[in-house]
Amino acid sequence: MNDKTEAVRAVRERMAQAAEHSGRRAADVELVAVSKGKPVEELNAAYVAGVRHFGENRSAELAEKATALAHLPDLQWHFIGHLQSRQVQDVARHAHCFHAVDRIKIAERMQQALEEEGRELAVYLQVNVSGEESKGGFECDAWPEEPAQLTAFFDAVRAIAAMPRLQVLGLMTMAPYNATENALRTVFSRLHSLSERLDAELPGLDARGLSMGMSGDFEIAIEEGSTLVRVGSAIFGARG
Ligand SMILES: *Cc1c(COP(=O)(O)O)cnc(C)c1O
Repeated sequence: MNDKTEAVRAVRERMAQAAEHSGRRAADVELVAVSKGKPVEELNAAYVAGVRHFGENRSAELAEKATALAHLPDLQWHFIGHLQSRQVQDVARHAHCFHAVDRIKIAERMQQALEEEGRELAVYLQVNVSGEESKGGFECDAWPEEPAQLTAFFDAVRAIAAMPRLQVLGLMTMAPYNATENALRTVFSRLHSLSERLDAELPGLDARGLSMGMSGDFEIAIEEGSTLVRVGSAIFGARG
């Protein structure tokens, strides 16, 4: 019941097929197993099944699990949730990667907390390319029609990239729930295009990572250029 080998193997197989479909290599897409809400025993089982990247979205839960699993030194913690300024400390202390930088202020607070911790943190900038209001992130739903939106975003990226303890790896987005395949493709390909625009604008940044794709849509995301998928329920089962 707690054996995750088959579930992890099946997800990796689907990831490899999606990569192959689009002429990419399976090794170019990283799997983050989203373990939010799941007990430490299940994370251990996924670790035994070969998983090394885990995703959490609540800072206290991250701290608790990272402490409980501190004996596994090659394990990497990804914080994937929205973060309030007062919650940065646990993430600064335990996370290896933060996927939801959605405003300059949170980056500034994280930079300060990382100074105190003597750590560095890889980050993705969360972008809302769909205009869906429930989705957080820097708003990039109205380009290329509204160039001012893009200019504002690039200014924010410049400011964040200048923070010495943050290493910008790329962009992250959340697709709308219950979207059609076409709508999902549009969202993912828009993030991919935005990433190419960013690369042209800031060629030295070298932040071409695309954190996109969840249990319901990771194959489409990979076909559209994802370099990292965040997969929860397909590995751990439905959340309560
Ligand atoms: C919960 C969550 C996931 C994983 O969702 P599943 O549908 O269970 O794969 C991925 N990304 C974020 C930001 C999440 O909050």
